[in-house]
Amino acid sequence: MTVDVAVVGGGVIGFAVAWRCAQRGLSVTVFDHQPAAPEQRASQVAAGMLGPVSEAYFGEADLTALLVASAAQWAGFATELAPFGDVGYRTDGTLVVALTADDHAEAARLWTYQESLGLPMTVLGAAALREREPALHPRVRGGALAGDYQADPRRLLRALRAAAAAAGVRVVDRRLSAPELSELDAATVVVAAGCGSAALTGLPVRPVKGQVLRLRAPDGEPGFRHVIRGWADGRRVYLVPRTAGSGGEVVVGATEEELTDAVPTAGATLELLRAAVDLVPSVAEHAVAELCVGHRPGTPDNAPILGRLSDRLVVATGHYRHGILLAPVTADTIAELVATGETPELIAPFTPARFRAGGDGARS
Ligand SMILES: Cc1cc2nc3c(=O)[nH]c(=O)nc-3n(C[C@H](O)[C@H](O)[C@H](O)COP(=O)(O)OP(=O)(O)OC[C@H]3O[C@@H](n4cnc5c(N)ncnc54)[C@H](O)[C@@H]3O)c2cc1C
Repeated sequence: MTVDVAVVGGGVIGFAVAWRCAQRGLSVTVFDHQPAAPEQRASQVAAGMLGPVSEAYFGEADLTALLVASAAQWAGFATELAPFGDVGYRTDGTLVVALTADDHAEAARLWTYQESLGLPMTVLGAAALREREPALHPRVRGGALAGDYQADPRRLLRALRAAAAAAGVRVVDRRLSAPELSELDAATVVVAAGCGSAALTGLPVRPVKGQVLRLRAPDGEPGFRHVIRGWADGRRVYLVPRTAGSGGEVVVGATEEELTDAVPTAGATLELLRAAVDLVPSVAEHAVAELCVGHRPGTPDNAPILGRLSDRLVVATGHYRHGILLAPVTADTIAELVATGETPELIAPFTPARFRAGGDGARS
């Protein structure tokens, strides 16, 4: 059956794009290979931090602008998806904290940069921090409140699937190879296959292993309400408390390893838990509910690849650490490109041409 759009990949990016395309009246089929362990799909493992402020890093100005634009769409995105499920969008904010003097010195450089961009970030002393979040360890030296929020990626994926189905999107359980893309009976093919995108397109998308723990509070309450990201004796860690109704889940993460295996290791678990307990001692009482491993679809410049690869082929991949945050802006801009043939201004810096032209992955 001929369709307007075939989307390859059924993570948050694939389903968000499929949904937006269907809302524009296009007929859409999603081809998704179900991994042997579905919880290993990046969208199932992600913590769900929506962090344009705390993840605004030196030398990534274009990416920061895209993250900020997508964060601004998130409240509306969550509301639109509400009939299909609560996606756990929560606006309590993020505390970025530093345990020791050395941690503080390192963190403060970044806070100064983030403040200089005009992003919502307020530096706080130790007393003000603990007043906001009494669960923090009394040794925490200082920190900042960032206007960064969170959503629950597992709930998001479920809601997007339901919204896409309601909009008429068909789903086919099939792993496609690169040659099969040209055989698909579709006017446009959108590759949104996360780490599988490299084999389909030849673009430089590589898996970056991330280990994450899911803890569960004994009384069903996480014990703190902000997302907490921090430095603890040189180790980086985050703790994400979920909404009421999630059984007191706290996500603790994450490693960043240039590895392709999916094995959770004792060493990484130890380091993550030690850093987490150093910042929020009460999580030592929580049950360990899951150790999971996912692979972020990384690119040479840490930014996504969004745009046209050929007349018929469009890519929406390489979202690395930001696929949950970038889902709304990716879906809107890719659907617009597919429907109108025009590349929206917002994604002009992120087209695949930057890798095709230079060959070394550098952006101009
Ligand atoms: C540990 C960890 C923590 C993270 N934390 C955050 C966070 O806090 N905030 C945030 O914004 N992002 C976070 N991310 C990043 C985010 O998870 C990813 O950027 C995002 O999920 C990518 O979504 P995707 O749909 O492109 O890929 P995926 O979710 O991996 O989905 C790709 C789908 O394509 C399918 N597929 C692959 N190849 C083929 C093929 N050939 N044919 C058919 N189907 C195929 C796969 O089976 C899969 O179902 C995190 C990631 C990890 C691993």
